[in-house]
Amino acid sequence: MQIRSMFFKANAASALANPVLQGNMRMSKGKFVDKRRTAITDFQAEGGDFEALREAGAELRNRVLNDLDLWLERFESAAIATGATVLWAKDSAEVCRHVVDIARRHGVKKAAKSKSMLSEEAGLNQALEAAGIQPVETDLGEYILQINDNEPPSHIIAPVVHKGLDEVADLFARVHKTPRKTEIPELTREAREVLRQHFLDADMGISGGNFLVAETGSVALVTNEGNGRMVTTLPRVHVVVTGIEKVTPTLEDLSLLLRLLIRSATGQSISNYVSLLTGIKQPEEHDGPEHLYFVLVDNGRADVVASEFQDMLRCIRCGACMNHCPVYQTIGGHAYGWVYPGPMGSVLTPLYMGLDKAIDLPHAATLCNQCGVVCPVKIPLPELLRKLREKQVEKGLRPLMERLTLKAWAWVACRPKLYAVGTRFGVRYLSWLAGGRDRIGALGIAPGWTDGRDFPAPQGKTFREMHAARQR
Ligand code: SF4
Repeated sequence: MQIRSMFFKANAASALANPVLQGNMRMSKGKFVDKRRTAITDFQAEGGDFEALREAGAELRNRVLNDLDLWLERFESAAIATGATVLWAKDSAEVCRHVVDIARRHGVKKAAKSKSMLSEEAGLNQALEAAGIQPVETDLGEYILQINDNEPPSHIIAPVVHKGLDEVADLFARVHKTPRKTEIPELTREAREVLRQHFLDADMGISGGNFLVAETGSVALVTNEGNGRMVTTLPRVHVVVTGIEKVTPTLEDLSLLLRLLIRSATGQSISNYVSLLTGIKQPEEHDGPEHLYFVLVDNGRADVVASEFQDMLRCIRCGACMNHCPVYQTIGGHAYGWVYPGPMGSVLTPLYMGLDKAIDLPHAATLCNQCGVVCPVKIPLPELLRKLREKQVEKGLRPLMERLTLKAWAWVACRPKLYAVGTRFGVRYLSWLAGGRDRIGALGIAPGWTDGRDFPAPQGKTFREMHAARQR
C-alpha cells in the first residue's frame, strides 16, 4: 500500500472539512468504548481481574519477543510436521512474490481472502491482479471497500467505520445492479449471496493470522462473520500471511491473549468464531486445504526487536487505542496515510516505513494516555510517541520554524522574570480575544490550534499570580 503519511496535516484538514465523514465519525463515536467498558465490568463482576490479565498478557508478549527466533523456529518445525510449508519474507515485495508463485504453481485463478492487515501492508491484491489472479475480499467491510475502487481500510477491526448506511446502499445498488436496499440485514444478505459463489469458485484462500501457536504449528483466526472459516476450509490451497511477531508458545497462552483481545476489540467475551487451523487435510477429514503455506513476514519488525521500541511489537491489533483516541475519533483512519491508524499507527508507521516518511504522526496525539490506559498488553504508547519525537529532533527532521520557535521558548523559559511577564501578557491577550466567552473560536497568531476545535479561554490569573496570592 502506498504511504501517504507525510501528508498527515493536509489529510487531517480535509477530513475535518468533510461533513459526511464527520457525521459518520460522530455516529460511531463511543460505541466500541461502551462495549469494551461493559465487557470488562462483566468480567470483573464474575470475579475476573482485568488488570492482572493485562499484566500477564504484557509479560507473555515480552517473553516471546525476548526469544522470538526460538519461538519462530519451534513454530516452523511444528507447522512442517503437520504438512505445511513455511516461507519467510523480509519485505512486501517478497510477500507478493511468494504468494504469486504459490498461486501459479497450483494454477490458481481466483483467491478468496479473509481480513489481513499484512496483505494491505504488502499491496498483495495489486500484485495478484497484476499476475492475472482475482483477489476477492470476503470480510464484509473489506468487500465494501474493494468494490468501492479498492478504497483502503480506516480501522484495523472495523475497516468501513468511516462509511454511513446510505453510502453502502448506493454502492451495492450501483455495483450489484440491484434495487437499492437500506436495511442492514438486506444488505448483508445481498453481500452473502455474491460472496457465496466466490467461496465456491476460489482455488486459493488467503488469510492473516491473529496468532501462531508454536507448540502445534497452528494459526488462530478471530472473526465474527464466519468468512475466515470458509476461506480456510473450502479452497484446496491456503496461504496464511502474517507478521513474525504473532507467534505465541502454547494453546494455554493463546487462551490468555484471546481473553484480552476480544474484550478489548469488540467488547465480546468471545467472538462468534475462533478458528484454529492445524496442518493440511487428512484422509479422514471432510474439509480443509490440501496445501497449506505460511508466509511469515519481517517488513521492518526484526529491526524493532531488541530496540528501545520493542514494546510496540507486543501489539495484538485490538484497535482499542484508536477507539479511545480523541484525534482518531475526529479525523478517522485515512488521514494517517498508511495501513495502521490511530496511536498504534503513529508509532508503527515511522518504525516500519522510516521517521522521515511519517514526520507528523508522532505529533498526531495529545498524549492524554487514554491509549496507554486501555491497551490490553500495556504498551506505553505516549512514551513511545515521545521517544519518536526526540528521535526526530536528534536527526534534525522537524521544520525550521518549529525548531526556532522552540529554541526561543526555551530561551525565555530559562529566564523566570521574562517568562512571568510573557505568561501574564499571554493570558491577558487570550482573555481579550475571548471577549468574555469561555471558548476562543479563532486564534489569529496560531490558526492551527483552532482549525478543528475551539481553544479554551483562560480562567482567571496565571499560575504564578495565583501561587503568589496564596503565599501572601
Ligand atoms: S497498541 Fe494496544 S490498544 Fe492499540 S491495537 Fe495494539 S494492542 Fe490494541
